Amino acid sequence: MTDSFTPVSNLGEFGLIDRITSILPDPLTDTRIVCGIGDDAAVYRTSEGMLQVISTDALVEGIHFDRTLTPMTYLGGKAISVNVSDVVAMNALPRLATVALGIPRNMSVEMIDALYHGMAAACDSYDIKLVGGDTTSSPALYLAVTIIGEVSDDRVVFRRGAREGDLVCVTGDVGGAYAGLQVLLDQRRALDEMGETFEPDLEAHRYVINRLLTPKARLDFVSTLSELGIRPTAMIDISDGLASELNHICRQSDTGATIRVSALPIDPITRAVADQYLDDADTYAFYGGEDYELLLTVSPEDAEALEQSGHALIIGEILESSAGIHALSPDADMIPLQGAGYDHFEEPFSGDGL
Ligand code: ADP
Ligand code: MG
Repeated sequence: MTDSFTPVSNLGEFGLIDRITSILPDPLTDTRIVCGIGDDAAVYRTSEGMLQVISTDALVEGIHFDRTLTPMTYLGGKAISVNVSDVVAMNALPRLATVALGIPRNMSVEMIDALYHGMAAACDSYDIKLVGGDTTSSPALYLAVTIIGEVSDDRVVFRRGAREGDLVCVTGDVGGAYAGLQVLLDQRRALDEMGETFEPDLEAHRYVINRLLTPKARLDFVSTLSELGIRPTAMIDISDGLASELNHICRQSDTGATIRVSALPIDPITRAVADQYLDDADTYAFYGGEDYELLLTVSPEDAEALEQSGHALIIGEILESSAGIHALSPDADMIPLQGAGYDHFEEPFSGDGL
């Protein structure tokens, strides 16, 4: 043991994961393991041609959600969806889920019922089975979900396969979840100030609130890719923000990239919320996170086919590594896109920080 005390915030979330990785023995020495730490899910070979994928994500009260703003059924659904999203980002089909639950003393049986109704409905919608878990008491509510999925050798997609000349696509609008968070935080401030007399007004912003509270994993897109016979060169789900996810793809593929700001799909309600708070909607889109759309790179021909099918939009291009990672503004300015979208150990941008 040493006496030194290095704050975790000195490393940041991704620096900490790198450090953890260096402590652990290299998993790839087991030849059945195809992908260890560093992608959306771990991948290992179960039989010739077949791979299993495993991913775990936790939602923690006070970090990922505020219990006063989040109905329990929504929370249950979201816990499943954010995990399915990581499996989908490998182009895999989810099959099984387990849930580790930490329950604080001030929660009722009825609340747990609601949580599990939400999880059951989400599992049903993705056609997966919840087959186990663990239950403990805890100072704050937490849900750690693990999902197991499968994919064939010739369909799996990693973060690391992007090539210069590929086009960057996204499966849906971005920035909405962050706009939803702004609306909810604003409502809570009003509630705190006005107490019982406050009446929440959520309907005008229902779309962005739903983007935050009831995200859907894009399992449908795995079928789309299969039907169109397209295998992306790289793919990642947008949990921490488009800029952060693009940085992961570029870092692991050793490439640069440019995103056209004018091509970003941003919902009009997201723009209206950003305007209302005197914010920039493009910043929501690049750095907001929690949209759970997929960011992928494909050959130009495949990108064309995807865009024509209406299932994804082309937003940029993969370049050589020395070009760096930039947003191209409508005025032709090149703005560097920083890696950090949401980092748990830095200044919180969404409701997530430590
Ligand atoms: P995502 O946002 O897609 O869920 P993360 O950024 O949470 O991905 O994790 C990145 C990678 O680091 C993943 O491969 C994940 O399994 C791994 N990882 C995260 N935290 C830990 C940890 N505490 N110990 C080991 N591996 C971890
Ligand atoms: Mg992910």
